Amino acid sequence: MLNIVIFGAPGSGKGTQSELIVKKYNLVHLSTGDMLRDEIARGTDIGRFADTLISKGNLVPDDLIIKMICAKIDERKGNCNGFIFDGFPRTVAQAEALDALLASFGKKLTLMLDLRVEEPLLIERLLKRGETSHRADDNLEVIKKRLQVYHEVTMPVIEFYKSTGRYVAVENCTTVEEYFQSIVQLIEFSICGF
Ligand code: AMP
Repeated sequence: MLNIVIFGAPGSGKGTQSELIVKKYNLVHLSTGDMLRDEIARGTDIGRFADTLISKGNLVPDDLIIKMICAKIDERKGNCNGFIFDGFPRTVAQAEALDALLASFGKKLTLMLDLRVEEPLLIERLLKRGETSHRADDNLEVIKKRLQVYHEVTMPVIEFYKSTGRYVAVENCTTVEEYFQSIVQLIEFSICGF
């Protein structure tokens, strides 16, 4: 099983790269942001609660996120090549929970890919996306808050994966294709060692 965390600041291209990875390696794409937006669109209790946090750039509580991911993994773990986790984990508690979840059925996380992108470019991309995404959180005020939360709460996840030898940075790339080529090399190296 190939289990990958795709990590990075908001606007770093996690969704785009996840789609390319899913096509190449036939993995199940689990995006907690997409799951929450689906709850919001369906007007569920979870969706209404999540909306109040997301629209202000805050994180949704760990227990709710972990429950959601756990249910999705349970649905698919017996019939897939592996998972790509996009936008999850965003806290060290979530990263620990993911290890425990995978270990509960004898699996491990293969690697964590950190998409490194300069902050001014992140802001530019998110503002541009906001013109068409109509996402409540793609406006300058909320983008700044999301980046602050990323620095304060999510970046410690990097140390967690570094300390357990599963961290890889994807950097010095400019185009989507360049990022993807680097990612494929890193995945192949982690699978085959060359
Ligand atoms: P994303 O689509 O990954 O940018 O997520 C959009 C928003 O959903 C985030 O800004 C958070 O408010 C919330 N969210 C998504 N994933 C998580 C997570 N793993 N933990 C907490 N909140 C999350």
